[in-house]
Amino acid sequence: MRKKIVAGNWKMNMDLTSGTALVSSLLAVLKDIKKCDVVFCPPFPLLAAVHELIRNTRFGLGAQNLHWEDKGAFTGEVSTAMLLSVGCQYVIIGHSERRKYFHETDETVNRRTKKALQANLSPIVCIGETLDERQTNQTQNVIRIQLQGALQGLTKEEVQKLIFAYEPVWAIGTGKNATAEQAVEVHQYIRQLLRQWYDDQLAQTIRIEYGGSVTDANAEELIGQPDIDGALVGGASLKVESFAGIVRAGEHHS
Ligand code: PEP
Repeated sequence: MRKKIVAGNWKMNMDLTSGTALVSSLLAVLKDIKKCDVVFCPPFPLLAAVHELIRNTRFGLGAQNLHWEDKGAFTGEVSTAMLLSVGCQYVIIGHSERRKYFHETDETVNRRTKKALQANLSPIVCIGETLDERQTNQTQNVIRIQLQGALQGLTKEEVQKLIFAYEPVWAIGTGKNATAEQAVEVHQYIRQLLRQWYDDQLAQTIRIEYGGSVTDANAEELIGQPDIDGALVGGASLKVESFAGIVRAGEHHS
């Protein structure tokens, strides 16, 4: 069975004081978690401090982006070596906010994914359709194109190491989560494509999280689906009780 994974994407929220307080509280509240993978993805300036807090625990650390070059004149970007040096194990790639506000394309998603894999960082690759695309029946088409773009030139062994996050854009930060049925339908479509392009074993073992207005109130229903391997959580990852509730749902179904 695939292990569930719950990752908290803090986006551009929290500072050193509030971020470390949040993690300290969560470590205390979640000390009984044994099966579900839990990942904190704070903004870059907080990574080292969060790493200090979770060192020697089973909680993981992720960044919200990385650059595909090793170093140089790329103001505002961070490299894999920098992320590794502050204890990152995961990195979110291609979040819809990066695609919308920072001109991230399937090609740059692919470059970042390749670079993360080279550095042994686990990429959490985000894909998902807009409301307009869903309403005009383009969901599968969009998912297929984004997936194809992200996987360009990767070997099967590399693809095997990816984690996907299906995040319908219309559900992110809106309070309107996809129903379990809607999410499962897309997760199954992603597995169908992976089976077609690689093989059944890969399609069955790869983890696909759902993201989009996950809360402690809907987590049981969503994460309880065999085809939903966890959650990528934005807003609800900033509060102890809501994030803890989602992690407990992950633990319950792991
Ligand atoms: C996200 O940022 O990936 C996300 C899913 O946000 P929210 O949970 O706030 O919808």
